[in-house]
Parts: sequence; structure tokens; C-alpha cells
Amino acid sequence: MNMYEQIIKAAEEMQPELVACRRDFHKYAEKGWFEYRTTSIIAKFLDDLGYEILMGDQVCKRDARMGVPPQNELDAQYQRALKQGAIPQYAERAKDGMTGVIGILHCGKGPTVAMRFDIDALGVFESDEPDHRPMQEGFRSVNEGFMHACGHDGHATIGLGVAKILAGIRASLHGTVKLIFQPAEESVRGAKSIVENGILDDVDYFLGPHNTDKPLDEPAVVIPGSYGSLATAKYDVNFHGLSAHAGGSPELGHNVMLAAATAVLNIYAIPRHSGGMTRVNVGTLKAGSGRNVIADEAVMEIEVRGETTEINNYVMDYTMNILKNAAQMHGCTVDIKLVGAASSQTSDMGLVKRVRRVCEEELHLPVSANDTARNAGSEDISYMMNRVQEVGGQATFMRTLTHRAAPGHNRRYDFDETYLKQAVKVFAGTAYDILK
Ligand SMILES: [Zn+2]
Repeated sequence: MNMYEQIIKAAEEMQPELVACRRDFHKYAEKGWFEYRTTSIIAKFLDDLGYEILMGDQVCKRDARMGVPPQNELDAQYQRALKQGAIPQYAERAKDGMTGVIGILHCGKGPTVAMRFDIDALGVFESDEPDHRPMQEGFRSVNEGFMHACGHDGHATIGLGVAKILAGIRASLHGTVKLIFQPAEESVRGAKSIVENGILDDVDYFLGPHNTDKPLDEPAVVIPGSYGSLATAKYDVNFHGLSAHAGGSPELGHNVMLAAATAVLNIYAIPRHSGGMTRVNVGTLKAGSGRNVIADEAVMEIEVRGETTEINNYVMDYTMNILKNAAQMHGCTVDIKLVGAASSQTSDMGLVKRVRRVCEEELHLPVSANDTARNAGSEDISYMMNRVQEVGGQATFMRTLTHRAAPGHNRRYDFDETYLKQAVKVFAGTAYDILK
């Protein structure tokens, strides 16, 4: 049996373990920066396999994290995680929203292969309808309002499967394996802080998965590359004004209602860009304190997107200008806080072709006729890919295909778990091919 055949066999045998692991992560879903339990389980698993593990400040640069919830929520979720079986000695190292873990397998001289698996859930109330399989089979999220509705429970599981296989064949590997279990991918908050810690600076090859719906008649298990995910920036915006009596002395107030409304209409009126697609959205706006009071505080949650990082910067700059000028127009001030961001990304065709060859010739897995798929949304894996490409490495973001019960971010989301073992083969097989 050659090494690829051993990888196939190991992944097949591992399937029940993969399903159990995925269902455990699903049941105890944890939203971004709250992944204490998930992190602790992954860390122990990697530690037991002989990986060097990085945790806490070694994973995310503390000040570069975006959209971190307030301390009281971090503390409450930490206690919740401990009650739900987080492993204390590992969870402790992830305290205060320093979640995520990196496992490094040192196998002598050779290239460094990094893989990224995101681990966070969404703020979604999972369906409790009797025909929703997690409900039927007892692994619906017990954390109301948190749900793995994007399948990152599966991604984390695939990462552990890959970790186990590579540890088992480490004597045949030449180089370094870095497995990055990333927190807070949703709302694109976590990846940049990992990049800023220098984790990607020595990486020669970089791979990451995302589950994608597989048409019923599609045999392929993977689309080996992707392109065009939208660059994006998310902001929390606070307008400050001055309240006054609406009847008695409106001229003495500084009206944030007018400032915010002016901003909303003008953000949607930003001219299009000839270079490509743009998006803007004002998702929430809350302002004012009473009917007869000139409003003095307003809070907005907004986001912008662009087909490339450059186009996104154009929309960002225009938006900043509008916010500042809309505030000034009405004698108000504005605070703008960046709470999430991602750049655009493109897979390297050399690595895409290598994945195709390994899958088709060595692993006997069908690959999509398309080398790449367009990304509809945004993904902060782009920061990691861009850094690897900057330092001369190759990167690809792959679509691992599976039948899904509902689209991502839907409360009835679920997926066909047989894809777990196939994805493990794709990632472990490609890593072996690079490090053999
Ligand atoms: Zn996702």
C-alpha cells in the first residue's frame, strides 16, 4: 500500500469519529471570540498527537482583533464553556476572547504547509422543527441563539482529521505543518489578527476549505480554487449631538437624526466604480430618546464591499467622507470604529492544478470540471492568502462540496457528513504530496 492509499484507508476508518466530533461541536456551538470549549478540545487533541501548540497571545494579536464583545459577555461565556465541558487547562489559555489554536508539526527540513480551519458559529436560532436532523438525532445547539449554520463545525473536524493522519505519517514528511484553527471568521474579524502575529510569514503553501452546496448529479468532491471574494469593511458608527426642547428651542440642538439620515441617503448614492462591483449597506440605525427631544445620539451598523481591495477602498473612503461631513453639516461629531474587514483573494493556479492531480491520480477523488469558483460573499481567509502570496508562497481557498439541507446562515442548515472524510483525504493527501 502506498502512502496515498494509507491516507485513503485512514480517512475511511476515521469517518465515525469525524461524525461524532462534528456533532459535538455543533451541539455546543460558540460564536466568535467565545470559542473556549471548541478551542480547548482542539488544543488537547493536537497536544496529545505531539503537535507544538500555540494559544492565547501566540495566535491572535490582541489589539488587532476586531469586533470583540464586551468583557462581561466574554466572562459569562467562559463560565458557560466550563460548565459544558471545556478542558480547563487549555480553556484558561484562551480566556478574555483569546480563542483559537495553532498546531505545528515539525518534520525536519522542507517547505512549510499551512492550512486554515475556521471554528466559530453564527448568531442564529437553530430550527427546532422535528424534521431538522440535528433535532431528530440529538445534536441541535444547546446554546440558544448560537448555531453552526455555516458548517465551521465541519471545517474544525476536518482539521482534526488531517492533524491525526499527518501525525501518523510524520516519519515520511519533510518540512513543517501548521494547522490554524481560526476564531471569529463570521463578520470577518479574526484572520487579520493572526496574520499580524507573523504566523503566515514563513508559509510556502497555504490551503483552506469552505463547504459549498453540491448539486444532486455532481460527483465532484472539491473545486480546488476560487477567486473574486469581495473585499469588505464593517463599521460601528456613533453620532454625537446636543439635545434640546423640540418646541421651545430647537435651534439650540445639534440634531443627530438629520446627520444620520443625511449619511444614510448619501452612502447609498455613492457613484458606481467602473472597475467592478460595489455594495453598501446600512444595516441598523438607532437614534433619539423621545418625541419632543432633539436627538443627540445615533448608532449605525454599516458595511461596504468591493470586487477588489482597491475598489473597496474607494467605497470606504467615500463613506468616511460622507459620515464626517453629514455630522459636521448639523453641528454633530462622529466616531467610526472598524469592527471587521477582509480583502479580495485569488487562488494560485499552480497549487490548484497540484490539488487536482493529487485528487484525481493519487486519491481517486472526482474534481469539479471548473478549476475555480467565484466567491459570492466575503471571507477573511483572504488576509492569510494575500500574506502568503506576498512572501512568495502559493495559496488556494477550496470549495469542499456536500449536499446541504439549506443554504448557509439558515436556521435549517445541515450537511451530508460523508464529505468530512473526503475533505480530510484532499487536505492530508495534498500536504503529503508537498512534504513527501
Ligand atoms: Zn463560513
